[in-house]
Amino acid sequence: MPEGDTVYRTARHLDAALAGQTLLGSDFRVPRYAEIDLSGRTIDGVVSIGKHLLTRVGDVSIHSHLKMEGSWHLYRPGSRWKRPASTARLILTTDDWVAVGFDLGTIDVVGRDDEGSVVGHLGPDVLAPDWGAASEAQAVALVQAAPEREIHVALLDQRNLAGLGNVYANELCFLRGVLPTRPVAEVDVPPLIALAHRAILVNRDRTERSTTGDLRSGRQSWVYRRENQPCRRCGTRIRAGKLGADELKLRDVYWCPRCQT
Ligand SMILES: [Zn+2]
Repeated sequence: MPEGDTVYRTARHLDAALAGQTLLGSDFRVPRYAEIDLSGRTIDGVVSIGKHLLTRVGDVSIHSHLKMEGSWHLYRPGSRWKRPASTARLILTTDDWVAVGFDLGTIDVVGRDDEGSVVGHLGPDVLAPDWGAASEAQAVALVQAAPEREIHVALLDQRNLAGLGNVYANELCFLRGVLPTRPVAEVDVPPLIALAHRAILVNRDRTERSTTGDLRSGRQSWVYRRENQPCRRCGTRIRAGKLGADELKLRDVYWCPRCQT
């Protein structure tokens, strides 16, 4: 599942290409919106909020979410797509660009003044330009509101803090020396949230994600996807398991049994 930094870059690329352009066509390949035609309208811009994308077109907003496999591609008219056309869910065409949303997990069309119905449940966006002390305090309070919860689960809950995915949840627990299963009540939450913001911000504008500071292949994470490999700090074998708010939301977790307690 894409992390907030990937979604942020997607929004930025789409916005740079499409903002101010007039739609020649809008092809919604989802039954619910098959009849909608936005051609002739101007795209005002594309923004990300957490891991959600909003494409604003006049008085409507197209909400999309990449979920597990989704991605947006930009093509010049007539050029070959890199993913099968059968997986396209939404195609926005302008004079200069064809924007194709493949395998989008969610598509909604809502009134511009009704964006709250699709993103209103989200906690503070860790990549928002106006992230600051107030957002940080709000996210801390939201996480701490459920003291019994595992910290890893709390970090992934987009209602607490929008934008973090499983890579960051795992890496942040390592960096703060806490086990993913540690209850929120036993975790020093404010520095963890501050670190979450710094860690994702560092990666926001580059395609290679690293939480170690090393961009070389195979060295970009402390624990994520490093099961049975030696901890980069202490040499102990990294352990792996599954954790989630419920059985349907199980995620892979990784930890060093020595560095994290
Ligand atoms: Zn270790």
